[in-house]
Amino acid sequence: MIPLNASNVIFQNFNQNENLILKVTKSSFLPTKIKKSSISIINSSNIIDGFEFYLCFDKKILNNINLKNKKIILLEDKFSYLDEGDIIRINLMDKRVKVLFRKKSKNNSFLVTEKCNHYCLMCSQPPKNINDEWIFEEINKIIPLIDKKTEVIGLTGGEPTLQKQSFLKLIKNFSNFLPETKIHILSHGKTFQDIKFAREFSDFSNYNTVIGIPLYSDISNIHNYIVQCENAFDETIRGIINLKKLGQIVELRFVIHQLNFDRLEKFAEFVVRNLCFVDHVALMGLELMGFARANIDDLWIDPFLYKDNLSAAVNTLSLNGINVSIFNHQLCTLNSDVYEFAVKSISDWKNDFLPNCSNCKKKLECGGFFSSQLLRPSEHIKPFQ
Ligand code: SF4
Repeated sequence: MIPLNASNVIFQNFNQNENLILKVTKSSFLPTKIKKSSISIINSSNIIDGFEFYLCFDKKILNNINLKNKKIILLEDKFSYLDEGDIIRINLMDKRVKVLFRKKSKNNSFLVTEKCNHYCLMCSQPPKNINDEWIFEEINKIIPLIDKKTEVIGLTGGEPTLQKQSFLKLIKNFSNFLPETKIHILSHGKTFQDIKFAREFSDFSNYNTVIGIPLYSDISNIHNYIVQCENAFDETIRGIINLKKLGQIVELRFVIHQLNFDRLEKFAEFVVRNLCFVDHVALMGLELMGFARANIDDLWIDPFLYKDNLSAAVNTLSLNGINVSIFNHQLCTLNSDVYEFAVKSISDWKNDFLPNCSNCKKKLECGGFFSSQLLRPSEHIKPFQ
């Protein structure tokens, strides 16, 4: 696991209180304007002049006479992975630092809002009805600092599309500043049933934006119950159809648990018959965070127990030419006929393994666990010999 949040950070010589968004650098050859929004990493002997902010990971450096009057942030050594092009938020009031973007990672994502009009039983980020418009504003400030060669950035929530105009502005900014970057948006899809909104979105988005939309059953009542919202199934399907009419890339996401594992094969047949135009289907293991943890006894099922259902669904989709993947599953809980569909999908900062896994010959190919899944791993974890 990679730490992203630092608390009780030591700040030296700061006299302001507002949050700062800064890009980490080791370079000395930067234009003055860029230096102003950067923080220079210092090691024992190398202090680059001309920056307002400095970052270090070793307390002893603070005794250096040349740094007496500099604004310095001291982080624990476990953050010394921070490197050129990474972006951090410094919260001086709370003495916290949050890593917002890591240039070398393919798992960068931004939580756009905590608001949502669904209340999914297994939501890993339970919604809050608060005014969090500031998050959009902050991301808009971060976008110009992000490396232009970034392959992929995720947008999550809450429901990112709820504040329509703020969302559209954000998408426009991503397209303008990062035209090559794949923007992967997690959305319940309902907002796109408004064709005007769907059109504006497709006008603003770049060519490889992907919308990941959850559909948790082929039966509307089961989906509506899981997301705790009447009519959600119909509205989501309308949204998906609008997006596809406009040529957008749509991924369906089916999170598997006790309430829907027995619909897996029927769901696959439903997709083949009715939604064969979607671009990808992800069949996903449960992350035991938020409401999923609170509802664990109603939701959790050992993945080993539904491996035949999963194989049947994957084979139905794949044989019918639909691009399908298995996310968030350990290889030893799957049937061998679907190994090739299993993807290492868990973000690096929350990816973990059991001690036993170190003896496994397939560890490098295995996606492992969410750290939260270690709370209740499958009883059938067995290293490959
Ligand atoms: S033993 Fe561990 S590493 Fe091996 S397949 Fe199972 S979960 Fe993955």
